[in-house]
Amino acid sequence: MPELRKDPVLGRWIIISKERRKRPTDFLVEVVPGSGGFCPLCPGNESFTPHEVYAVRNKGAVSNTSQWQIRVVPNKYPALIIEGDLGKEGLGLYDRMNGIGAHEVIIESPQHDKNFADFSIEKMALVFKAYQERIVDLSKDQRFKYVMVFKNHGKAAGASLEHSHSQLIALPILPRMIVSELAGAKSHYNYKERCIFCDIIRQEIQFKERVVCQNDKFITITPFAPRTPFEMWILPKRHSSAYFSQSDADILALAEIFSESLRRLCGCIANVPYNFVLHTEPLRSGGLEYYHWHFEIVPKLTSIAGFEWGTGFYINPLPPEEAAGYLRESLENTSGGIHDEQDIAG
Ligand SMILES: [Zn+2]
Ligand SMILES: [Zn+2]
Ligand SMILES: [Zn+2]
Repeated sequence: MPELRKDPVLGRWIIISKERRKRPTDFLVEVVPGSGGFCPLCPGNESFTPHEVYAVRNKGAVSNTSQWQIRVVPNKYPALIIEGDLGKEGLGLYDRMNGIGAHEVIIESPQHDKNFADFSIEKMALVFKAYQERIVDLSKDQRFKYVMVFKNHGKAAGASLEHSHSQLIALPILPRMIVSELAGAKSHYNYKERCIFCDIIRQEIQFKERVVCQNDKFITITPFAPRTPFEMWILPKRHSSAYFSQSDADILALAEIFSESLRRLCGCIANVPYNFVLHTEPLRSGGLEYYHWHFEIVPKLTSIAGFEWGTGFYINPLPPEEAAGYLRESLENTSGGIHDEQDIAG
């Protein structure tokens, strides 16, 4: 029988449709051949992007030249622009404001054809560190209330450039999804005096069936009410509401679990398009007892159609318990993470 499930934080319902049940091999991903044309994100083409706001460079290398490991640049075609004031006003019963914000591109590697999932742990940690640095810097701008970090991988998931990159948008208003998560988490806290995400982690570790993998500091689960097949959440085991406050050791452990989770996913479905988003506390919150930062990885395997638009319900053909099983088996013959050679030697 199909099953209706409610997300404990958001109160969002989804439908697990076992009648339409699919196995990993049923999700065939068509690989669109690359354009092979000019790439503005490749080394040597720095003059085709706006000036960098952050970079990890080889020692002594000059900014905006080609010696770099990571570059963060403003988006050339930004969704929101940085200059100006908010200009909030009411038009009768309607509210409007200027499209003020920051839209940046995190160029994750100088190598054009290297996928994020294939990065070494150390390399991935540099990317996660760059997110932290940019959030800290943008939080000084009092116009902004939130920084949304996200990645689109694969054409079907919205990536317009092949070269591995993620993006962030600093927003003058709190996104509705975050408002809903904060409200759901707060109401649980008011009632039980515990963080709902900490409660979820405790329960998932106890029951094991939706645990994909874990290390000392992090856990990856398939959530109880996932929107899509193989949706995964990565959470720190120790309570923390602010992503930027993680230590370098935490970031390395995050890279380890992220890399493993993505490789498990790619092991189930080759060339899988996906989005991931970072959910963290609003800027300048100062640490919240009731909220818990996390990443959500959402593979793009089903389409959003009339029913989803009309109801906000998602229909998911793969129960998360089965998805977690496939993900756990996915790397059975390989072990450990991929590290840079020098780090293994050292
Ligand atoms: Zn490139
Ligand atoms: Zn917590
Ligand atoms: Zn979330």
